[in-house]
Amino acid sequence: MLKKVVGLILLLTAINGFSQQIFKPDSISNELIMDSDPIIIDSSVAHTSESEFLEQPKTAFVLLDTAVPPATTMRLSWQPNQSSDGLSTPTPIFVVNGAQEGPVLCLTAAIHGDELNGIEIVRRVLYGADPKQLSGTIIGVPIVNLQGFQRSSRYLTDRRDLNRFFPGNPHGSSAARIAYSFFKEIISHCNFLVDLHTGSAHRTNLPQVRANLLQPGVAEFAQSFGISVILHSEGSVGMLRNAAVDIGIPSVTLEAGKSMTLQEPAVRYGVKSIQTLLDRMNMLETAQPLDTPDSIYYHSAWVRVNHGGILLGNVNLGDKINKNDILGIVTDPITNMRSEIISPYNGRIIGMAIDQVVMPGFAGFHIGIQESEERTARIINIPAKKQIVQHLSTMPESE
Ligand SMILES: [Zn+2]
Repeated sequence: MLKKVVGLILLLTAINGFSQQIFKPDSISNELIMDSDPIIIDSSVAHTSESEFLEQPKTAFVLLDTAVPPATTMRLSWQPNQSSDGLSTPTPIFVVNGAQEGPVLCLTAAIHGDELNGIEIVRRVLYGADPKQLSGTIIGVPIVNLQGFQRSSRYLTDRRDLNRFFPGNPHGSSAARIAYSFFKEIISHCNFLVDLHTGSAHRTNLPQVRANLLQPGVAEFAQSFGISVILHSEGSVGMLRNAAVDIGIPSVTLEAGKSMTLQEPAVRYGVKSIQTLLDRMNMLETAQPLDTPDSIYYHSAWVRVNHGGILLGNVNLGDKINKNDILGIVTDPITNMRSEIISPYNGRIIGMAIDQVVMPGFAGFHIGIQESEERTARIINIPAKKQIVQHLSTMPESE
């Protein structure tokens, strides 16, 4: 497995080199970026031991026209050039450039500005990563959508969903231009990408990796987090992970919890899963990486409510459920009519609505449906003995 990952890294480094030729930095945003000095958090390039001299010399990592020396963490600024110059708010971009050579892993959070768990996950991973111990580079963007974050909103100020506009267009809508700038200035420099999200519209998700497992390199990457739930999901047009995969960057979405709040267990598990990823990619060792059981194979589907009213769930995230179990009850507050939401499947609750008022058709419970190992392997054409979840939901992706 590790050998495969290293091989993959070499291949993708070559591919990414090509992609960087396509996305050359543009001079307009660079001028803006240079207005603000990068802040050096930790700088040490001292090599003291003999073994360190023997290691392959690492060069500075250049991003946003700034050279980040080896064994250094720096905070840079990305400016999507959308406001008048005097009012613009630069977006912080962290670069942890390791002392040794290795891949470039990108972590992005809060493309939806109201999804807070990912912000805290990225912060903990970045500040916990010692650049002197790191092989490779981590680019971390805790809050991609500052516009939305400042208003506690999923969307940009023009009500558009930024995660439907990648890889963007320099001549398109405001969202398309922001997406274009971010993709060109930041994402095109990544070898691997993890985009962090939570459930939306008052729903919460069990921690899970979503990925297009049909794409070369993505299935292997998706299984490196130690997370037990992996959903095969081809995603929607314009999603960041899809656009990144299209230029040869293995990318996944990491879902954990719900929006508008911070959830310590989800954050802790998310941090551990990314530390496990760093360990398995030979970038940074971690104590006690996650070790997932090897027997989880899922299709998935959403169960919708058929009557409007007050929804109270009868199950919890992660619960194993059987066909005909009552997942929740909707009560009409005026007529007192009750309707039960019955599971048509055996499986596990991997996402669900928080108790709330619902309309008929609301997607209430996301069920992972266990499949036989052989059937799953046949569907997605990868070897058995991998942890795969097949996602057959008809529900639009919320990530
Ligand atoms: Zn999201």
